[in-house]
Amino acid sequence: MAFESLTDRLQVAMSKLKKKGTVKEEDVKEMMREIRLALLEADVNLQVVRGFTKRVGERSIGVEILESLNPTQQIVKIVDEELTKVLGSEAVELNKSPKIPTIVMMVGLQGAGKTTFVGKLSNFLKKNEKARPLLIAGDVYRPAAIDQLKVIGQQLDIPVFDMGTDTDPVEIVRRGLEQAKENKNDYVFIDTAGRLHIDEPLMDELKRIKEFAQPNEILLTVDAMTGQDAVTVAQSFNEQLDVTGVVLTKLDGDTRGGAALSIRAITGKPIKFIGTGEKLTDVEVFHPDRMSSRILG
Ligand code: GDP
Repeated sequence: MAFESLTDRLQVAMSKLKKKGTVKEEDVKEMMREIRLALLEADVNLQVVRGFTKRVGERSIGVEILESLNPTQQIVKIVDEELTKVLGSEAVELNKSPKIPTIVMMVGLQGAGKTTFVGKLSNFLKKNEKARPLLIAGDVYRPAAIDQLKVIGQQLDIPVFDMGTDTDPVEIVRRGLEQAKENKNDYVFIDTAGRLHIDEPLMDELKRIKEFAQPNEILLTVDAMTGQDAVTVAQSFNEQLDVTGVVLTKLDGDTRGGAALSIRAITGKPIKFIGTGEKLTDVEVFHPDRMSSRILG
C-alpha cells in the first residue's frame, strides 16, 4: 500500500522527540532534516518539500511550544495540519450543473485509469444519488478502449454512447449529448483519447471537445505509481486545458506516494477522488485530513 515507508520514516523522525524530556531548537531542526529526507525519498517534489518543512519548522520552533507540557504532541499536530494544507485542506466536491446534465470530461494519458474511473464514478453516483449517467466513448483511436467502456457499461447497467472509430470525437460528443437530453440523463461522462506521451494533436482534440461540450468538470486522471512524472503530466494538462480537478489512481500500489503530496501544491487544482484498486468499487472521495492521518500512521 502507498505511503508505508513514508509513514515509517516520519514516525521514526517524530518518535525521537518523544524520548526527550524537553525539546530544544536543535532537536526540532534534526527532526525537520529527517522529515525532509523522508519526503524526498517518497518522491515528493523538492519545491513542495521546501515549503512544507519551512512552515513546520517555523511553527515548531516557537517558544510556547518548547515550554509547553507536551511539545512532541504539539509538533505532531503541526506536521499533521501542514500536511493537510499541502493536500488541499478540504475535500472538494464534483462541480455540478444547475440543470441536467452535468457534463464530466475525462482526460489523461493512456493507461492512467481513465476509463476504469468513468465506471467507478458513474457507479458511485448511481448508488449514492440514484443518478442516471450516460457514458460517451470519445477515444476513436483505440477500438479496445470503446469495447472496454461498453463492457463496463454492461457490468454496471449504465448506457454507453458510441459511434465507432470513424467519426470525429466532437461529432460523437454532439450526438451523445443530444441523446442524453432526450433520455434526461443527469450526468454525462466523456471518455477521451489518451496517448503514451502528451502531444499537440491530442491536446488540440481535447481543446475542441472542451470548447464544444463546455463541461462542468474536467477531471484529469493521473497514475500515482508514476511519481514525479505524474506531477509533470498534471502540470501540462492543466496548462493546456485548465482542468477542474484531479483523480489519483493506483494508490493501492507500491507507490512512494509523492505524487499525492505534490500535485495539489504544484497545479493548484484539487484532488477530488482516489482510485484504490482495479474493481469498479475501488474509489474514494479524497479527504486531505484523512490522507494526512493515513500518511502519519
Ligand atoms: P486508460 O487508458 O486511462 O483508460 O486506463 P484504464 O482505465 O484502461 O486502466 C489501465 C489499467 O490500470 C487497467 O489494468 C486498470 O485495471 C488499472 N487500474 C485503473 N485504476 C486502478 C487503481 O486505482 N488501482 C489499480 N491497482 N489499478 C488500476
